[in-house]
Amino acid sequence: MTLVRRMSMYLVCGVSLAALSGTTMAQDPLHAWRGGADPASLETWVNARLAAAKADLDKITSVQGAHTVENTVRPYDDAQNELALAGNEAYLMFSVGNSALLRDKGQALLAVVSSAATDLSLNQAVYRALAAVPLPTNDPATKHYVERALLEYRLAGVDKDDATRAKIRQLQDKITDSSLVFGRNVADGKLEVKATKAELKGLPEDYIARHKPDADGTYTLTTDSPDSTPVFSFAADEGLRKRMFLTYNQRAYPKNVAVLKSVLEARQELATTLGYKTFADLAMADQMMGSASNLRKFLQEVDDASRGAGDKEYALLLEFAKKQQPGLTNISIADGSYWSEQYRRVKYNFDAQSVRPYFPYDEVQEGILKTAASLFHVEFRAVSDAKTWDASVSTYDVFDNAAGKKKLGRIYLDMHPRDGKDKWFSSAPVVPGIRGRQLPEGALICNFSGGVAGDPGLMEYSEVVTFFHEFGHLMHHILGGQGQWSNAGGFNVEGDFVEAPSQMLEEMFRDRTILSSFAKHYKTGETIPASLVEQMNAAGAYGRGRWLQAQMLYSTYSLQVHDRAPQQVDFDALLREDSDRFSHFTFLDGDRMYTSFTHLTGYSSNYYTYVLDKVIAVDFFAQFDRSNLLGGPTAMRYRRTVLEPGATKPAAELVKDFLGRPQNLEALKAWINEEFKGNGVAAGK
Ligand SMILES: [Zn+2]
Repeated sequence: MTLVRRMSMYLVCGVSLAALSGTTMAQDPLHAWRGGADPASLETWVNARLAAAKADLDKITSVQGAHTVENTVRPYDDAQNELALAGNEAYLMFSVGNSALLRDKGQALLAVVSSAATDLSLNQAVYRALAAVPLPTNDPATKHYVERALLEYRLAGVDKDDATRAKIRQLQDKITDSSLVFGRNVADGKLEVKATKAELKGLPEDYIARHKPDADGTYTLTTDSPDSTPVFSFAADEGLRKRMFLTYNQRAYPKNVAVLKSVLEARQELATTLGYKTFADLAMADQMMGSASNLRKFLQEVDDASRGAGDKEYALLLEFAKKQQPGLTNISIADGSYWSEQYRRVKYNFDAQSVRPYFPYDEVQEGILKTAASLFHVEFRAVSDAKTWDASVSTYDVFDNAAGKKKLGRIYLDMHPRDGKDKWFSSAPVVPGIRGRQLPEGALICNFSGGVAGDPGLMEYSEVVTFFHEFGHLMHHILGGQGQWSNAGGFNVEGDFVEAPSQMLEEMFRDRTILSSFAKHYKTGETIPASLVEQMNAAGAYGRGRWLQAQMLYSTYSLQVHDRAPQQVDFDALLREDSDRFSHFTFLDGDRMYTSFTHLTGYSSNYYTYVLDKVIAVDFFAQFDRSNLLGGPTAMRYRRTVLEPGATKPAAELVKDFLGRPQNLEALKAWINEEFKGNGVAAGK
């Protein structure tokens, strides 16, 4: 009910504005930009989607007699579909729109759509109607879809009385507002560190040249990343590294202590209001992990699996550092990056710049499309006359190679920077899929090198890995968008599973056969030498034990501040305790990392997502035949069991269907210890 009233208010406003500006209604209900890529057309289009969603919800509330899948679940999903279209494309225009006005309009409309979605999540009439639908016994996908929708409704507090629901909304608003303040304090928190000329030793020449000395001969460095990151990695002076580290980690201190406390208090109250003991339990109730106690067990297992390798890595690093700096007894947290960088250079003799000539953008894109086509048994056909939001976007239709060349969907590749375009790398759903009615469409929004005439666009190897990663999300969306429910596609899986398919595709990048199929020197055409691939992979495998131990620290800390009463949380004591337990580097007094750790407000207790999905991704990858990654039957089995079902099953079942068992840590252990292969150092257990 709330939804209907709220939305009609927006609609009246939207339609009258559009009428004033003389814009006609956009005709294409799936593509906002086709009706005109200007703010008024976008607003008209989004409002049409919201009106359609309202009409769908009206169908549910006006049902006379029994609620059924057809008269209730169908219009519920249709409404979700309209909201998804509206949200996806408002976001798209916010990210890639070709004028500031259009991008601003996209952002404003995004807030309107998200408010409509929140209203739907608290809509009691729709919840009761869905709950009254007898669940079909012969259609497990629909059964799971409805059960999950009902769980999300309960987690939102829809079944509480009016006063409680008002309180929930208030607590949620408080969490959102305080989290924004937390993030802004971090973004705005810029402090300065003074350094003498001698202390700049080891920093790159262009870094030193960028900084002019003050009148007294000292240099002023800031805590912003272009100034601070090189200090951590390259500054030879221990004192400068320590000053920078402590200042950097205090850039939102003490301001954010109180802000973080208020977020935790509101979260705890929300959790108890909804019947959970702690916020960690609430945040994991609809995730693969399920509960905080499952997470504790999982973290212990990963700790056991990675500790030995982490210890060995640290011992080797300390031995190396002692040779350079006699008398050194331990490496502090401020010095970890510096010594790791020195060690990596000497030990692996790998310069990331040396592979760039083998990765010109156009060849990389072609290579990734070719790899994905073989792996997923699809064909990409360029669509030269597609109307998109920018002339530089390339469009491909995706066809099924497995079943009579059926068309599966469409992808848009918006891959290079433009003025005003979003600066990040992401994969975004555009159109959700509904079997027999609407094909899924997705976009990559990236900022890779290239795209300019005459520039080969030589890519860093980390950029190529990112390309593989984002393409993994895109294929999950296309292949997982072939079912009957719009809101059960690839992007709708549990939040702590969504990164597994993309991380799995990253592993493919390390395969020499796949790499040599497209990595050719942009001038000579020479295939990337096998020795260079080996060096690159060896350098890439370095430090995995310590990386996981650091992930343990962040995951444990994120859990601990959310698994007890906020009054019992001592941020400093917990940080010291977790650092002593997981970090090989010595803790420094005054380290206030938690005041700028924005994942605490973003992921809350669920930072572990990165680790869980890494475990699953390498377990998935281990099922493939390494000597024939693309050719064997495993790829098709992966497509069928993991990607195609989208969110019509719990993720734990997708994993089990593919592996024949739940994920375990055996593949992760092999992955961690890869770095010790062949150099006579055994990592132990
Ligand atoms: Zn991702």
